[in-house]
Amino acid sequence: MKVLITDGTAPEAVKMLEEAGHEVVLDEASPERLLEIIGEYDALIVRSRTKVRQDALDRAVRMKVIGRAGIGVDNIDVKYAKEKGIKVVNAPLGSTLSVAELALSHMLALARGLVKGTNGIRSQQWLKKQLKGMELDGKTVGIIGCGRIGQALASRCQAFGMTTIGYDPYLPAEVAGRANIRLVELDDLYRTSDFISLHVALTDETRHMISKPQLDMMKKNAYVINCARGGVVDEEALYNALKEGRIGGAGLDVFETEPPGDTKFAELDNVTMTPHIGANTVDAQFKAGTMVSEQVIMALKGETPTFWVNK
Ligand code: NAD
Repeated sequence: MKVLITDGTAPEAVKMLEEAGHEVVLDEASPERLLEIIGEYDALIVRSRTKVRQDALDRAVRMKVIGRAGIGVDNIDVKYAKEKGIKVVNAPLGSTLSVAELALSHMLALARGLVKGTNGIRSQQWLKKQLKGMELDGKTVGIIGCGRIGQALASRCQAFGMTTIGYDPYLPAEVAGRANIRLVELDDLYRTSDFISLHVALTDETRHMISKPQLDMMKKNAYVINCARGGVVDEEALYNALKEGRIGGAGLDVFETEPPGDTKFAELDNVTMTPHIGANTVDAQFKAGTMVSEQVIMALKGETPTFWVNK
């Protein structure tokens, strides 16, 4: 069968599909080109760049399965795909460690002023006195959303000597217990954490879950880390809290609008920012690519894929 891959993938992922007998075409199709060619393919594999909306699905007359090499399927109209009898599969485990490590990187960078120090030296300023940092050891991290990434972050923070508390209304207490995360009420988490790291999907329930009232509860030196989705944090409220010195700083990998353009956060030196690179490592791309190829191969064989999101 014919498989179209539009956002690139690991060579091993292509090899798996070919070894299963499929013809693979790599084409970084523009939205217009995708509409022209999608009708020729039995399967499509994307990351986040390619948007698969109703117009494309209407033309996908041979399509049996769409694979997302990663976790978030917000770029695919999964409901409409289901109506068309097209399975959507993803690779939810591929990026877990990469995102957890990035959240930890933001925490360490903020704790020691890495960006401020680098920028200082670039402009020939030796900011040694201004850069009095702190250790992670002995501090408390509050993890909102204690699923795969939240738990991976917890174990890494524990290795740094941190206390790990969490909020996750859907997580069984014994799972939290095994991960050494003490589940607390959300307000307690905001009041007692030195670092607050978000690891929830963007839903009606989580949109702007951190806004002015929550920021007002936080410690004056608290750091907010968002490597989940823009929109979970109210950026305007966060900017005001940072500007007014009501919290210590923020580490952001995701933004309400991406790219954020001429963002006001750029004027603040207690903010670290990365361009949505949580899953952007060689390792995560390899894992997500090979995992999604496996899912697509299963679906093309008529088997039930393990990570079928629109059953
Ligand atoms: P997961 O499904 O394993 O964990 C999410 C957890 O959030 C679950 O345990 C769930 O019970 C919990 N949850 C749901 N609603 C909640 C709420 N209102 N309050 C608190 N907890 C709630 O997912 P994961 O693999 O850990 O990924 C988490 C999120 O990370 C994804 O949804 C995605 O938005 C984000 N992500 C970002 C990147 C990146 O590039 N920065 C990459 C991958 C994933």
